Amino acid sequence: ADLPVVWIPRPVHDDALALLREHTDVRLGYGDAATTFDRVADRVSAILLRTVRVDGDMMRRAPALRVIARHGVGVDTIDVDTARERGIAVTTTPTANTQSVAEHTIALLLAVRRGIGVAARGAGSRDRIRGRELAGSTLGLIGCGRIASRVAHIARHGFGMRVLAYDPMLTGEQITAAGAEPLPLDELLPLSHALSLHVPLVTGTRNLIGLRELLAMPPGGVVLNTSRGGTLDEDALLSVLRQGHLAGAGLDVTVVEPLPADHPLRGDPSVVITPHVGAQTAEALRRMAIEAARHILDHLSR
Ligand code: NAD
Repeated sequence: ADLPVVWIPRPVHDDALALLREHTDVRLGYGDAATTFDRVADRVSAILLRTVRVDGDMMRRAPALRVIARHGVGVDTIDVDTARERGIAVTTTPTANTQSVAEHTIALLLAVRRGIGVAARGAGSRDRIRGRELAGSTLGLIGCGRIASRVAHIARHGFGMRVLAYDPMLTGEQITAAGAEPLPLDELLPLSHALSLHVPLVTGTRNLIGLRELLAMPPGGVVLNTSRGGTLDEDALLSVLRQGHLAGAGLDVTVVEPLPADHPLRGDPSVVITPHVGAQTAEALRRMAIEAARHILDHLSR
């Protein structure tokens, strides 16, 4: 019998391709023998994608399509309403990059607290770089889901930090179980030497941390964002940094990505910026690809 066709528009980890090739007919949308969607539309059963858009029109042209497996999180590139109408499953890999993003958050925390960003730019002489230890300082987490829980674990057990968390969707018991002390936002902010955002970008979290919240932090505090651009108000951040109220920030995500070279945040040496690479580790990329491949095989074997 003909094997089901799986279309993969952009490169994913080889181990995932090998796994899929045991049971399916894999068609790659890149490389020497690139197959366009048009060439497979009438036969394709599954799509494994990272960021390529799949709209309703593509779904309607693919009568055999049963599953769209997203490599990573976020389904904003997929027309999920049409998928639901047509009985096409849409899957994501929400846990595959948790450890990587948590480690990246800690990397930014250390970089900002120790002046590594300033030093790496060659912007500060040895005498002028005065770091702060993490031990004994307090980390405030905004959102206490998967990534925040890993950050809490590393911060407490690795560095001896006190960890607080604000997450109105969770009970106090759930936050305690995640390894943090639950507090309302207004009580958490003045205690947090470092504040780290770990919330999704939804209506209720847009500019969740703005001028009022940043000014409520202790002087010399630092802010970290590895969640989504837009949860932290960048104009407010620039303003508190210029006032000298906060000591720095570490941002893996920004409202505009990639952040333009002339953006004011780039002009401030106390701000360490990485281009949304929190999940870009060999381990996470492999895990995301394998999980997405497994989702495809699960759905095709039903
Ligand atoms: P998660 O769903 O496990 O946790 C999110 C938490 O935010 C939940 O506990 C939820 O209750 C909480 N929350 C929702 N609204 C809130 C609000 N108004 N105030 C406070 N808390 C609120 O998600 P996760 O896997 O931990 O991911 C967290 C963030 O990291 C997401 O924005 C995700 O998109 C982002 N992320 C970034 C990268 C990267 O490359 N930098 C990679 C993966 C995920």
